[in-house]
Amino acid sequence: MKQNLLDFDAHALTAYFAEIGEKPFRAKQLMRWMYKEGESEFAAMTDIAVSLRDKLTQQACINVPTIMREELSDDGTRKWLLDVGTGNAVEAVYIPEATRGTLCISSQAGCALDCAFCSTGKQGFNRNLSVAEIIGQLWWANHQLGKNAEGNWAISNVVMMGMGEPLLNFDNTVSALRLMLDDHGYGLSRRRVTVSTSGVVPAMDRLREECPVALAVSLHAPNDALRDVLVPINKKYPLKELLAACRRYLEKAPRDFITFEYVMLDGVNDSVQHAHELVRLVREVPCKFNLIPFNPFPQTHYQRSRPDAIARFRDVLMQANIVTTTRKTRGDDIAAACGQLAGQVQDKTKRTMQRPVVLHR
Ligand code: SAH
Ligand code: SF4
Repeated sequence: MKQNLLDFDAHALTAYFAEIGEKPFRAKQLMRWMYKEGESEFAAMTDIAVSLRDKLTQQACINVPTIMREELSDDGTRKWLLDVGTGNAVEAVYIPEATRGTLCISSQAGCALDCAFCSTGKQGFNRNLSVAEIIGQLWWANHQLGKNAEGNWAISNVVMMGMGEPLLNFDNTVSALRLMLDDHGYGLSRRRVTVSTSGVVPAMDRLREECPVALAVSLHAPNDALRDVLVPINKKYPLKELLAACRRYLEKAPRDFITFEYVMLDGVNDSVQHAHELVRLVREVPCKFNLIPFNPFPQTHYQRSRPDAIARFRDVLMQANIVTTTRKTRGDDIAAACGQLAGQVQDKTKRTMQRPVVLHR
């Protein structure tokens, strides 16, 4: 089988070139074509010797996942459904804003962690995405959106907040992150690349050592009893351990705070008492809060908190000097909002036997 060059970070690509008897600078040249120019045909790489292009054509390929569907929301949000083979598809979402273009990407087909309020979790887990499938989402988005007047790609920020738990697909996620950061790749700054985790503590420590990018942690509850229900991995890594890992992460993080995500569920975790408990809980972690109004999906019994409850909750955090934003719901007309990404996943855990997968409009 041909080697997909999108599966390599710079280090691995250089090693591959050495193996086929080529100099290291060739790897850099190739990366520039693939990522800076968005090229997927060796034939178009005009400054590479024909003999090397022929060799690569025989042995290698630049294989991005195919786009099955593209949807455009009224607010400019775009969603792509990407075919990752064997009946699986994952989603990537582009969110345009005045000063930046953010791409939300997926790391797994499905997710094993089964958070109570998450549509991806309800589908069960099928498999980890390859490096090519992760970086391929960025490749496609840039390809579809093109470059701006200054010659830069439209995507300035990447958040790993799509389908799946990135830290449970650690190696492939880190290789893809390195391609995002690499000068010969997308050249994004560490501050503009965010990994979101539900709290896989040992992997947070590894990320700090191997590729410290901005970190968002899905907190969602102010105590272990409630978090055990909403985010079941809390039973393995309870809040005390999670918050200690957050503090350790900050020693190397590119930003001097952790972003805590907190989904606002009506009558579940959104009272003023919960907010006060939360303030006490995070006292020793420099942080910002991002309140996410719950986005409903077909098989859920949860409801979104009322706007006045969200405002009151936010005020308690702000009074304790914690910067708090409420996430605007974007692209909900195309089911592209947080936690609504479903794709199509062949569920190996058979969780969908109990709750059927509902495909998007
Ligand atoms: N697995 C990672 C990243 C993907 S989920 C994680 O859990 O952090 C990205 C964010 O969307 C997480 O904070 C997640 O809790 C939140 N989310 C999941 N389902 C949601 C829903 N239905 N409404 C709002 N936010 C949701
Ligand atoms: Fe997985 Fe994140 Fe969804 Fe939890 S919220 S089930 S960790 S994708």
